[in-house]
Amino acid sequence: MFELTEEQKSIKKAAREFAEKEFTKELALECEEGEEYPADLVKKAFQLGFPSIEFPAEYGGQGYTFFEKVLITEEFCRASSTLGMMVAEACGLGAPLVEVFGSEEQKKRYLVPALRNEGSIAGAFTEPAHGTDITFLDTSAVKERDRWVINGTKTFISGADVAVGVVVLCQTNPKADPTYGGQTLFLVDVKDVEVSKFRPKLGLKALSLCELKFDNVVVDEKDILGQLNNGFYETLLLFNQIRILGGARTLGMAIGAYEIALKYAKERQLFRRPLARFQGIRWMLAKMATEIELARIATYKAAHLEGQGKGDPAFSAMVKSWVPERMLNVINEAIQILGGLGYMTESDVERRWRDARAFQLAGGSREMCWNTIARYLIDRDHKIPI
Ligand SMILES: Cc1cc2nc3c(=O)[nH]c(=O)nc-3n(C[C@H](O)[C@H](O)[C@H](O)COP(=O)(O)OP(=O)(O)OC[C@H]3O[C@@H](n4cnc5c(N)ncnc54)[C@H](O)[C@@H]3O)c2cc1C
Repeated sequence: MFELTEEQKSIKKAAREFAEKEFTKELALECEEGEEYPADLVKKAFQLGFPSIEFPAEYGGQGYTFFEKVLITEEFCRASSTLGMMVAEACGLGAPLVEVFGSEEQKKRYLVPALRNEGSIAGAFTEPAHGTDITFLDTSAVKERDRWVINGTKTFISGADVAVGVVVLCQTNPKADPTYGGQTLFLVDVKDVEVSKFRPKLGLKALSLCELKFDNVVVDEKDILGQLNNGFYETLLLFNQIRILGGARTLGMAIGAYEIALKYAKERQLFRRPLARFQGIRWMLAKMATEIELARIATYKAAHLEGQGKGDPAFSAMVKSWVPERMLNVINEAIQILGGLGYMTESDVERRWRDARAFQLAGGSREMCWNTIARYLIDRDHKIPI
């Protein structure tokens, strides 16, 4: 059903070769320990066009679809969980929103530099007091004559310290009914925002999660991204892609962990035979491989629909609620097969577990995905496309 075209196979192969050569264990460790952005690596990846794969050629992208982005993400995260995620996402969470809803002026000012690796476009939705619930926001944009004034705080914002611009969701009409019908996206220069790096965290240590303070930030009417009071709905379009990417990232992380465990099980000699001869270990490997293949089919299906402009929110939510959870289990089993070594950083498996854990929260938590699936299937009688 999802046989890759020859071109897709060669893109996947090129991504694998690049990642295997460049995403070294030493660099991953260096970036993790120093909580450092892998700038040189990102530069090399841009030279080969990987981070900009799905953006139109006229703005400096490669003109492929979201499906090819998923293939690259899987390969990059297979080679290294932290580096893979950061390099694949180097254009930033807000870049697809600018591509779809941006004016020509906004695209020239923010998207073109982002695709040239001059700084990403962050996406700021989450707030300290509201978290998952973005149906009402404290961050407000108030119109004063022909200008808008933004005030508020956004939290856990990925990579805002290396961004040129930030897409921020604001409450523009607090009295709207429903409240999310009074929200608008603005595209703001990061220089106008106070950006502070966030607290230490479990994984993805090289990725900074920032807190953004908007203190009377003045923007123009032309800085509205998309339509006034339509920002919530525009954001939902982005969420569909983020959910599928959560699947692709953890899929790649788990494939890498499985491969490490398989090699180890074949080489490690215990009780005068390779570990891979024991049925208990064979069944673990068999179950891991099964979960990986099923996760791949589901992720590719969702990505294929999205790439064709037929993205299905219920199915994407299924992928996001299921794939990261099962892939975390695969990585956990890989740690078990490696024994004490699996618990050590040098094995390159424990980091995968810590990094993959983020995706039951980030980009649509497991619970919110279940809510989406239930809403579509139970309340709307929605049918998942075959
Ligand atoms: C690595 C990482 C990167 C991130 N990057 C960004 C970013 O770039 N931009 C951005 O805007 N945000 C980002 N986030 C924030 C992320 O989107 C939020 O963490 C997420 O939306 C959950 O919000 P919260 O952490 O405040 O949890 P809360 O909203 O407080 O939720 C707590 C728990 O309750 C559950 N819950 C909430 N509501 C319901 C419900 N109705 N039914 C059942 N369970 C419910 C949640 O699923 C969660 O498990 C990032 C987070 C992480 C971890």
